[in-house]
This record gives sequence, C-alpha cells and structure tokens, in this order.
Amino acid sequence: MNTPAKISPAILAKLAKLGIRHRADLLLHLPLRYEDETHLAPISTVQPGTNAQVQGVITHSEITFRPRRTLVCRLQDNGGELYLRFLNFYPSLQKQLAEGKQIRVVGEARTGYYGLEMVHPKCRAVDEDTPLQQSLTPVYPTTAGLSQVVLRKLIDNALETLPLNDTLPEPLLKKLRLTDFAGSLRLLHNPPPDVAASSLGQRSHAAWRRIKFDELLAQQLSMRVHHRERGKRIAPVLAPQHHFIDSLLNSLPFALTGAQQKVYAEISRDLAQPHPMQRLLLGDVGSGKTIVATLAALQTIENGYQVAFMAPTEILAEQHFLKLREWLEPLGISPVWLSGSLKKKEKQLAAGRIASGETLLAIGTHALLQEQVSFHRLGLAIVDEQHKFGVQQRLALRNKGSEPHQLMMSATPIPRTLAMSYYADLDVSVIDELPPGRTPVATKLVSDTRREEVFERVRAACMEGQQAYWVCPLIDENGVSVKANVSAANVKRSGRSQPEALQLQTAMETHETLRAAFPELNIGLAHGKLDSAEKARVMAAFKAGELQLLVATTVIEVGVDVPNASLMVIDHAERMGLAQLHQLRGRVGRGAAESACVLLFQQPLSELARARLKIIYESNDGFAIAQQDLQLRGPGELIGARQSGVAMLRFADISADEDLLNDARQAADELLRDFPGAAQAHLQRWMASKHDYLHV
Ligand code: ADP
Ligand code: MG
Repeated sequence: MNTPAKISPAILAKLAKLGIRHRADLLLHLPLRYEDETHLAPISTVQPGTNAQVQGVITHSEITFRPRRTLVCRLQDNGGELYLRFLNFYPSLQKQLAEGKQIRVVGEARTGYYGLEMVHPKCRAVDEDTPLQQSLTPVYPTTAGLSQVVLRKLIDNALETLPLNDTLPEPLLKKLRLTDFAGSLRLLHNPPPDVAASSLGQRSHAAWRRIKFDELLAQQLSMRVHHRERGKRIAPVLAPQHHFIDSLLNSLPFALTGAQQKVYAEISRDLAQPHPMQRLLLGDVGSGKTIVATLAALQTIENGYQVAFMAPTEILAEQHFLKLREWLEPLGISPVWLSGSLKKKEKQLAAGRIASGETLLAIGTHALLQEQVSFHRLGLAIVDEQHKFGVQQRLALRNKGSEPHQLMMSATPIPRTLAMSYYADLDVSVIDELPPGRTPVATKLVSDTRREEVFERVRAACMEGQQAYWVCPLIDENGVSVKANVSAANVKRSGRSQPEALQLQTAMETHETLRAAFPELNIGLAHGKLDSAEKARVMAAFKAGELQLLVATTVIEVGVDVPNASLMVIDHAERMGLAQLHQLRGRVGRGAAESACVLLFQQPLSELARARLKIIYESNDGFAIAQQDLQLRGPGELIGARQSGVAMLRFADISADEDLLNDARQAADELLRDFPGAAQAHLQRWMASKHDYLHV
C-alpha cells in the first residue's frame, strides 16, 4: 500500500475551494464527465459540436494579435485539417506545437473562422506507436490553477491509501441490489475499457446508482437525526384550554372543513408536547390555512404565551392583521402590528409592548425577527408563505431566547419527492380539500391581439357588480424597476433606451389606459413601490367594494383575499412561472360567484412558455401543477436553490431518481433502528465537511 501523498498548502487552498477539506472528500470528488481517448478519429470524419480525439502533424503555427493575442496552429492528418486556438497560453506551448511536431489532441470541434477548429484542446506530443488510453478519462470539476493531472493524482492516491469499507450492511445491499462501495467508486474514477460511455455519462450505471443512493441516504439520515434531536429540546407545553377556541369557532360564518379539523388536531397535539414543533402546513391556494393558524395562535395565547405571526410582504401581513383583529377583538385579544415601514417611534412602541408581554399576538413582516424586537415569552412563531423566507430567517427564529414552536405555511404545493427530500426534517400537514361552495375558476387563454375584447369583458363584469384584478408583470427583468414617483410617461421615455421595458405593459400605463377607457369605473392601483399606508388604503378600498377594478403588479400574488373578486386578467402571462400563475389565479374563485381567469399572452411564445400555459390551462390542482413544474424546471428553481437541501445534492437528481429516494427513505429508518453504527459511519463519510447541513 502506498503512503498518503503530501499536499502543499497552495494545493490545499485550491482543494478547499472545491469543498475538499478532508482527504476522504477526495474519494467523493467524482468526475463531471468522461473523455473518450480510447480511439482516434480521422479528422475528416469529425463533426462540429462533438468531442473527438485526433492525431496529426502541425503544419503551421503562428501568433495572431487581432482581436486578441492568440496562438493558432494547423493540424493535418492524412485526409483532413483542423485548427487549434489558444487564447491564454504559456510560451512553452508554442514550442510544443511547433511546425513538424506530431500531436494528439482531444477536444470539442466546432466551425470557426478558418474552418473546423478546437479551442483550448488537450494536446500532447506523440509518435506513431504511442498507445491509446485503455479506459475513459475522467474530467473532474476543478478550479483555476488546479490541473486535471494533479487532481487525478491526488484522487488516485486517496483511492489507494484510504479505507474504502462499505458503510452499509450486506443484507441491505442485497435487498436493494446495490453494488459495493469500493468497487463503485473505483469504477467511476477509473472506468474499465468495456464500460458503456453512455451509462456513465447519463449516470445510469450501477456504480452511479450506488453513489447516488449513498448521497440520498446521508441526506435522509441527517434529517432524521435532526428530527430526533428536536425531540430532546425543550419548548413550552401549550395544551388546549378550550375557552377562546370554542368562542371563535362559534362566531365564524362557516364550519371548518374535515381537512381543516384534521390538520388543526395535528398541530394542537404538537403544541401540547414539551418539544418544539416544526410543522409545515401545506394547502392549495384558498384552502383556508389562515383560520387554522389562528386556532394554533389561540391555543398558545390561552396558555399565556406569545405568538409571532409573519408574512413575507406588507400587504399580506396587513391582511392577516385585519382578519385576525376582526376575529379576535371580540374575544378581548388585540394584536400588535409591526413592520419595517413603521416610523421609529411606532416601532419602538410596538416592540415595547412585545417585550413587556403586554401583548400576546404580534403580526407583521420579518421585521418581527430583528434584533431590536425581543419577546417576553414567545410560544409559537407562525410563518406564512414560508418558501419566501430564507433558511437564515428560520434560524434567527429558532435562536431567539427559549425555543418556540413553529408553524410554517405554504400554498406552493410541493411535489411529493421534493417534500420528502427537502422537508424531511419537518412534520407536514396537508389540507387536501377546499371549503365547500367554491366554483372552479374557468381559465381562458387569449392572445394579446384581442386585448380590446378583454377590456370590454372586464367592464361588463364590473358593471354587473363583480370585482376584477388586472395583473401586470413587474418591470424588473431588465434591471428597470418601477418607482412610485415615476409616471407612466417617464417609464415610456426611459424605456426608449430599453426596448424590452417598452414592450412591457406597466401597471401604471395600464392603469391610465383603463381609467381613460372606463371613466364610469373606480379603478385602483397597487404595486410594491407604494408606501405602506397607501397600499393599505387601496387594498381596504378594494376589499370594501369601493374600487371595482384593481390594477396590480404581482404584489398580490400571495394571500390577498377578496371573495367578491371573480375575474382576473393576467397580462403577459407568458412571462410568469407556473407557481406564480397558480397563486394569482387563486385570488379569484373564493366566493360563490362563477369566476374566470384570463391569461393574456403575447406571441411568439417560447416553447417553455407554451408548455407552462398549457399546464395552467388544463389543471386547477396545485399539486399536479407543481409536479409538472418540477419536470419543467428542476428542483433548484422550484424552492430557491441557495436555501434548499436539494441543492446540496451533488449527484442525485430527485426528479430522475425518485426510486432511489424512496429506497433511501426506508433504508434510513431501517439503519437507525437496526444498525445505528452503520448509520453513524455513513453520515461521517458523507457529512464530514458539511456541518452547516446538519444544523440547518
Ligand atoms: P389560504 O389557504 O390560501 O391562505 P385563506 O385562509 O385566505 O386561504 O382562506 C380563503 C377564504 O376561505 C377566506 O375567505 C376564508 O375566510 C374562507 N374559509 C376558510 N375556511 C373556510 C371554510 N371551512 N368554509 C368556508 N370558507 C372558508
Ligand atoms: Mg394564505
């Protein structure tokens, strides 16, 4: 057996950039792809856009200076020629590639200025009988200054000197028909000549499956361990006392649905435990999560503990504030409002009431999480639309004094696989039933060329006493954002240098257009740049029916609840994501009136936009839409890559490897129960340099 290679501090620093902090991490630094250097292609057969290895003689070599200093060489074999181009190169390369040298080259061919070319191919001097590689050549993810050759040497050394014992017990491997760890790892780093390149490239080879399984298992184990640890931490016991809750339920104009009762029972049980609850409440748009959260808040208040109820936007938080005040003031509970836009004095006043314990219910934006706000006895934190909050904010909450229970809510339905992977450390409750009496929203796709007809339809609906939304996309895609003090005319003017901005129908322009077209209607305008008092005033007027039409940016995306609104027009629907469209559409169909959602789109449509519009047109079910969204976009975008555990998966792909994820879930339970030592060793191998992961 070899001895471990000595690694210089300079190389160590480069390795750290790749996330390699322990020698063992080298083992799991797996190839991104493979190059096939096992055979030579005649240059004349090489197709642009493909990778190839060719061999020939340099027949011309020069340095050109336009547009940049470039080394250009012509390589010829018996039947063809190929140009090699190098932008940054050491002087020695020019010598190495001097005229008359015999060279073997690997790279991606493309059509260039001179004809067929390769840019920065891998080159080496050879003679007639230099042997070809016997197996595929791994290409590792790397960083500037760390060559494949050096990295490969280090990895080979690690493979030879470190223990590669299997962390998984034999019976489990047999049952799941997985290959052994050492063999899988060796194969991926040094594939034998007979391995199918495609099965390695697509990561479908048994060796890849083993590694992906291991990775998913480590993720599941770490979440389970985290979950268990939570069971050892202490939180206040908040058993139901039944005086507030029953009076609230009696005063409501509706009865809870079966699904609402079920999820409240789950939450209620958790709150009565001496350990912190971390529960995610999932329910499609309009399923009635707010009342469930309110019941949880009351159960906390009944026990003399405080509740922080947070939403990601002021509009949404304010709505909750108004709703809860209406429901709870008759019970003698007055909530305190706190948001970032309050004046300093008001903020201090609110913070004071929270700190003294004088108020038991604080509602607001994430300003509630700031340093200056300290709770007297926080028992429960409720976070609405939790996917809009970062993990950081989740952590801040957890660290505030004694540990509160947490209820997170989301109307972005999460595909099952994603929930299993990302939320495995949370308990999940699902409201899978809408309140009765809702009529499904009829969705219509209308081309922008028929805009006038849509105007007319909106007018007719409003004249009949209905209310409508007209939603415009935000102008931030090109870095041009709408400021409240910018008039529509200004937007137009500045848009001249930004043709994309000009194409967009801004909320302000639309507002003006509609106002001019329909002087008989009261039309409001809501967008993110309004100050909060103004925003609140507009929303209140719309809610009260004083405004018949509300022109808005996507600030109304989450949570706005105006049951009388029955028509929604979404302008430039082709620009919006599926989750967003579904959320927006959920703003209508909340009352008994027949509702419609018109998706106005501009042609030509990209393929992706067309696919999205088709899905949203065909389905009203948030879960089905989310599942399709996952297939269209991949998990990272769905929940924000940066903050997701999924993003930390390097090898597995939860949409493609659902079967492995299922196996890993079961295996995690089995290991923790029957082979705790193996579970420990497995986590150690995979998580050694990922402490953050274990604690988030
Ligand atoms: P979301 O789950 O999207 O947050 P909300 O909590 O805003 O939904 O509820 C949507 C609407 O349904 C509100 O007007 C709410 O008062 C009403 N609602 C909630 N539960 C019921 C129920 N069981 N029966 C009838 N209406 C209900
Ligand atoms: Mg809501």
